[in-house]
Amino acid sequence: MPSTTQTICSRCVMDSTVPGIQYFDDGRCSCCRHYDEVCVKDLHSDSDGQQRLEGLVERMRRDGRGRTYDCLIGMSGGVDSSYVAYLVAKKYKLRALAVHLDNGWNTELAVANVERLVKTLHIDLITHVLDWNEFRDIQVAFLKSGISNIEIPTDHAIWAVLLRTANKHRIPYIIAGNNVTTESIMPESWLYGSKDSRLIKAIHKRFGKVEMKSYPSLSTFDYVYFLLARGIRWIPILNYIDYVKADAKRLLIDELSWRDYGGKHYESIFTRFFHASYLPEKFGFDLRKSYLSALVCSGQITRQQALDELANPPAPAEILRQDRDYVLKKLGLSNEDYDRIVREKLRSYRDYPNSDAVWRRFSTMVGWARQRVTRVDG
Ligand SMILES: [Zn+2]
Repeated sequence: MPSTTQTICSRCVMDSTVPGIQYFDDGRCSCCRHYDEVCVKDLHSDSDGQQRLEGLVERMRRDGRGRTYDCLIGMSGGVDSSYVAYLVAKKYKLRALAVHLDNGWNTELAVANVERLVKTLHIDLITHVLDWNEFRDIQVAFLKSGISNIEIPTDHAIWAVLLRTANKHRIPYIIAGNNVTTESIMPESWLYGSKDSRLIKAIHKRFGKVEMKSYPSLSTFDYVYFLLARGIRWIPILNYIDYVKADAKRLLIDELSWRDYGGKHYESIFTRFFHASYLPEKFGFDLRKSYLSALVCSGQITRQQALDELANPPAPAEILRQDRDYVLKKLGLSNEDYDRIVREKLRSYRDYPNSDAVWRRFSTMVGWARQRVTRVDG
């Protein structure tokens, strides 16, 4: 019988700050058990997967004949997407078009990394700039909503811009940096996913003040249209290789003069504020536990290394204070506004209109679509 009284998993570093976490007789938790299941299903880093990837690259080249590009990639300037750019352009010599989303929060270092990479790798880049007045209003609405995942508006916009750009330029393949080995221990109870535009519209309608006119969003119908009718395929390329994050980072630094940020997703000031201030202060969630647990389970670091890292604060106190001041000023919120936001009741996506039930009802179809979009021999 699983128990919930234990505080920390004996294998990874997930603990009782995860609502609904369960521990089994061997002391291991439901998060890393789920990780193992996802690995079996989605990880293809063996020689068979390697062959499938070679086949896929061949196919992208073939389908790209007579077109300007073979594939589309998203670029945040972070390790995962930068390494994807390297693999695609340098290792596999595919002609990629890159898309970078400017939501107003990227650090100068992130922008410099993106620019250096596309220049060195000879990749064409489109930067999609969100309307700041409108996007600011959506972000403030999410903060006021009291739900944990205030990054949904950014993550959703990235996918919307990618799919719309792929469609516009008739590029059938989007190569993504999402990966099992470093990302797949993320409890659903911590962060609701970003695919749900109904939730975004509902929260904005309730708390927003500026009309939403140009924000790039995707309805459930849009997903069906782009992925099934238009046949755009999403390929998580890092699941087809033996992806070791530290090695990828070293290669980017040595070969492409890429510069480190000192924290996952810290290429954006808002994201750093989200991870290091908002989530710990309001919800008691420390996302480093999930990223470090995935690295432990994939054998890239030891459990002790993860525990040692967690013993330190997510960022120095001075940086946290600077980030908070910067974020509040840019969003037009006072310290009192933010204190109220942190104190107010914790809410979840279930408190607002959303499409979760639709996505769950069609999970079989989505599973089939996922297989289709990542299948390489069809
Ligand atoms: Zn565990």
